[in-house]
Amino acid sequence: MLNGGDLVTFRKQLLGWFRQFQRHLPWRRTKDPYRIWLSEIMLQQTRVAAVIPYYERFLKRFPDVQALASAREEEVLRLWSGLGYYSRARNLHKAAQQIVLNHAGQFPMIAGDALALPGIGNYTAAAILSIGFGKKLAVLDGNVARVLARLGAIRGDVRKSQRWQALQDNADSYLDPLSPGDWNQTMMELGATLCTPKSPQCVLCPVAQFCEGRKLGIAESLPEKRKKRANVEVTLAAGVFADENGWTLLLPPPEEEGALALADYVPTLVSRLWHFPTVSVTGDPSTKLRASLRKLLPGGRNGALHLAPASEVHHSVTYRDITIVPFRINVKELPRIKDARRVPLRDVSSALPVSNLTRKVARAVLAVPAVR
Ligand code: SF4
Repeated sequence: MLNGGDLVTFRKQLLGWFRQFQRHLPWRRTKDPYRIWLSEIMLQQTRVAAVIPYYERFLKRFPDVQALASAREEEVLRLWSGLGYYSRARNLHKAAQQIVLNHAGQFPMIAGDALALPGIGNYTAAAILSIGFGKKLAVLDGNVARVLARLGAIRGDVRKSQRWQALQDNADSYLDPLSPGDWNQTMMELGATLCTPKSPQCVLCPVAQFCEGRKLGIAESLPEKRKKRANVEVTLAAGVFADENGWTLLLPPPEEEGALALADYVPTLVSRLWHFPTVSVTGDPSTKLRASLRKLLPGGRNGALHLAPASEVHHSVTYRDITIVPFRINVKELPRIKDARRVPLRDVSSALPVSNLTRKVARAVLAVPAVR
């Protein structure tokens, strides 16, 4: 760990580099904790380029925490539609309501209060409170852990609790007490632009002279790889009704009940959003789908339905590799299904929140001719 004059030089060089070369991102132009919070949540597991249009659209509709708190969850999810990991949006919405109710609409400045909000962990709390309020809290996530593991030549699985704690101690000791918000962004920026997972650009690094991993020639192999959970293959069948005017039916977000751990649990796979009638299958997809539609349709009549197969769709959700077999079901009139809503097949997300899986199914089905 660095100290004394080395620590002073380390901080100065790294902060100087950040202030000169940082990327100009929309959330870097503000100290508003609501905007910083939103950016941090959107950036979890998601690339910067994908986040920017969502961030701007979301803020246009919900410019402050009050606007978000008073919105319907369905509208929040619709604006999140396509960004993935929808529990982030659900938690953001719930947390906004708690902030309005319990903190007079102000993001809490005390770490314990921030951590009590849904969806806020140590990293997010430290990021918001340091950037928004200048609190001396160092961030640590996978990105920063990689930088710290390389700087200190720390071997082994960084996610093991003792090692993670050691990295947090390093992060705390490096934190610049005069500019904690900028410092945290500096560490994030170094990890995102130069100290990247593959091929770190050490020749451009402002603190290369302090990097033990580089000196030992092992920087690129750090942090050491964790054993990955084996992927599981799942097959689904989806029934897409299409009437003569190009309308289709979506079912409401399913409730999750008790089977969450199963890899082929449909409510999780459709992200608990609006979706086509969907079943998990092991044998012939059309037989299983037909049986499921029978339960859904009034009077249980589906014998006359013609299920026209579309091209298979592939999608991944965490460790699941999903193959979906979509069927186009051309009908004169859409059937009445309890709580289902009509949407245009060409734009299924125009009025309702849907996942990328549902959009892909709709696209595949549009390639099937609209004849009965
Ligand atoms: S010298 Fe290389 S490995 Fe070390 S912190 Fe800089 S970019 Fe990362």
